[in-house]
Amino acid sequence: MVSGNWKMHHDHIEALHTVRDLGLRLKPEDVARVDVSVHPPFTDLRTVQTLVEADRLPVILGAQHCNDHDRGAFTGEVSPQMLARLGVRYVVVGHSERRHLFGMSDEAVAATLAAVLRHGMTPILCVGETGEERAAGRTEERLSAQLTAALTGAEPAAVAAMVIAYEPVWAIGTGNAATAVDAEDACLFVRQSVESVAGAEAGQAIRIQYGGSVNAENAADYMAEPDVDGLLVGGASLDAASFVEIVRASAPRR
Ligand code: PEP
Repeated sequence: MVSGNWKMHHDHIEALHTVRDLGLRLKPEDVARVDVSVHPPFTDLRTVQTLVEADRLPVILGAQHCNDHDRGAFTGEVSPQMLARLGVRYVVVGHSERRHLFGMSDEAVAATLAAVLRHGMTPILCVGETGEERAAGRTEERLSAQLTAALTGAEPAAVAAMVIAYEPVWAIGTGNAATAVDAEDACLFVRQSVESVAGAEAGQAIRIQYGGSVNAENAADYMAEPDVDGLLVGGASLDAASFVEIVRASAPRR
């Protein structure tokens, strides 16, 4: 699964152009074995949904975040119920920018994950260590804490259907991508951690993405690793041509 996180880029007019361009470039063979999702800002969702449905484009509608409540006095927030009503299928939960810039705690991530599941959508749960944690040899400890906090208590069947994105914070938006070997090591650790929290079946079934400065040149290297099942792409997903190249480079070879 290849997912494009647009972050706070592209207004709804630009979104229209980008998704139309994606629809023109993506061929049936590109999406035969790869799920492709886009995660535009909230103000673009209705526009993208309308276009994707009307033209039957092979793109899955995603969101970048939501509140964990269904409704209420939460000024400025968007509820999972609103997203589900719009046809959103995947929601990024606990992206490092939410955790570090907006103070999203492990507990808030767990509550949001549960809310997304409650509304029949699939979370893309983001986990990853900071540069300092990595330098201190605490990568696995951090991943384990984030996974345990988010997944404990979730139904194993729900965990099996989820997506987890391993995104080392130091690699996001920096051009300093992890090596494929480092990405594999971390994704394998994520899989083993999921197995211990939710059972072997869930660990085998869950899709694990790598994210952090992915581009058309390095995408295939990650996808050649046995425990990397997909990619979460930020900057390089904003342009349809570069995103489609990443999708093509991700077609399973195993
Ligand atoms: C992201 O937004 O999750 C991300 C990985 O960004 P980038 O690809 O730009 O590093």
